[in-house]
Amino acid sequence: MELRKYELGPIGTNAFAIIQDYNAIVVDAPADSAKIIFSDLEKDKVGVSDLLFTHGHWDHMADGAAFVEKGVTTYGHRADTILFNDPMIQSSFMLPGLDLKPVQIHNWLEQGQEINLLGFEIEVRHVPGHCPGNIMFYIAQEKIAFVGDALFSGGIGRYDLPGGDLEILERSIQEQIYTLPGETKVFAGHGPETNVEKEKNTNPFVRA
Ligand SMILES: [Zn+2]
Repeated sequence: MELRKYELGPIGTNAFAIIQDYNAIVVDAPADSAKIIFSDLEKDKVGVSDLLFTHGHWDHMADGAAFVEKGVTTYGHRADTILFNDPMIQSSFMLPGLDLKPVQIHNWLEQGQEINLLGFEIEVRHVPGHCPGNIMFYIAQEKIAFVGDALFSGGIGRYDLPGGDLEILERSIQEQIYTLPGETKVFAGHGPETNVEKEKNTNPFVRA
C-alpha cells in the first residue's frame, strides 16, 4: 500500500490516494482534484477505481463530477444527499465564484458497513456533528483512518454550519474515533496527520 496526500482547492482541502497494484481509491474530491490526481497517478501507470466521500461539503466534493465522468465509482452517506445533488445550496458558506456540478453517488454507505476495495477491508463509521453525513473510513490492516472534518490534529470540525451540532460531534469523536486503537493514524480533511492516542491525550476540545 502506498498513500499519497494532495492538499487542493481554495481552502486547502486534503484528498488522498490509497494505492495498491496500479489502482487507487481516492478519498474526497476538492476543486481541480481530478486533473491533478489523475495526471499524478498516470505517471506511475496507476488508475483510479473508486472515490470515497467523507462528506458532501463543497470543498470536498467540488470536482466529484469529473471523477464520475471518468468512470470512477462513488460512495457517500445518504444524510448528505442534498449536498451532493444540489451543491449550490451551500453558496452562503462557500467561496464565491465557484460553479459546482451535482455528483452522482453510486453507493450509499451506512454505519458499520464493510466495503472491500482493492483487497482492503474498509470499515465505515458514521461521525456526524460537523455535518449530518460525515463518515470515516477505517482500514484496520493498515492502521489508518480517514475522518473528514470530524477531528483535526489539535482541533475539531466546525459545528456552526447547517446541520452541525457540537454535542453530536463530541459523541461521534468519543464513540467512533477514540475507540480505535491508539496507534491508528488519523487523516483529516484539513491539516496534518495525527493519531488516535495523541488526540485522546492532547486535543484541546475533546479528550478521552
Ligand atoms: Zn466540511
